[in-house]
Amino acid sequence: MRWPADYHTHNALCRHATGTPLDYAAHAVAMGLEEIGCSDHSPMPRDDFDDWRMYERQLDEYVEAVLEARRKFPQLTIRLALEVDFIPGQEDWIRQLAARYPWDYFIGSVHYVSEGWDVDNPHKLGEWSRRSVDAVWHDYLDRLEASICSGLFDIIGHCDLPKKFGHRPETDLLPRYRQIFRVAAEANVALEINTAGWRKDCREQYPARVLLEAACEAGVALTFGSDAHAPSEVGAGWSEAVQLAREVGFTHWRQFCGRKMTSVPF
Ligand SMILES: [Zn+2]
Ligand SMILES: [Zn+2]
Repeated sequence: MRWPADYHTHNALCRHATGTPLDYAAHAVAMGLEEIGCSDHSPMPRDDFDDWRMYERQLDEYVEAVLEARRKFPQLTIRLALEVDFIPGQEDWIRQLAARYPWDYFIGSVHYVSEGWDVDNPHKLGEWSRRSVDAVWHDYLDRLEASICSGLFDIIGHCDLPKKFGHRPETDLLPRYRQIFRVAAEANVALEINTAGWRKDCREQYPARVLLEAACEAGVALTFGSDAHAPSEVGAGWSEAVQLAREVGFTHWRQFCGRKMTSVPF
């Protein structure tokens, strides 16, 4: 069987991951993968926005590092991508980024639910005790839906991220997710199964199985991502992820090249 591509990987440029694209490619080859994507955290319009992404001036260096990995590992297909934060008001910035290089895809991710608070930041856990958990989830889902409707992204990243440290909603969000997945199917935006959740407090892939089932039912396309922040995490949990995807009804993963899509069976 051909493994689905690992479309969610980082590298040291974002300041909280290790290794170069070359190191990630080497591990992918060792794992038997035929395709990966480099999708490091995109720069922000202001470099002092936060401390966990590459600087704007490093974009050339990033792209060159990915191209170098392509040259050194011709047997591996390596996609050029970014994980881009969706923050309302930054749409023009994201369009500018999109125009600058021949990207294969953009992962749109919601980390910030309000100004200055990225829900998955381990250094800002105290913020959770100042807010209602349900309100955080609702704010998160409003942004998630807006990110899908923006037309800026090919893939939606880790779509139930607020559970990372174990903060689960009290109300049943399944109906809201069903509606969001209908929007994603309509907009032809893919959803990723992200295996990083297995390495976090929530001990569960993003998204939860019940959400994967709902996404499949709604006809949303699927990609796979390890969210690797170290070369050894490339392809982490791949056989479990493929098995889970099959169990909930998926039969294909979505491949991207030059922001155009194809469906590949797995
Ligand atoms: Zn990261
Ligand atoms: Zn992310």
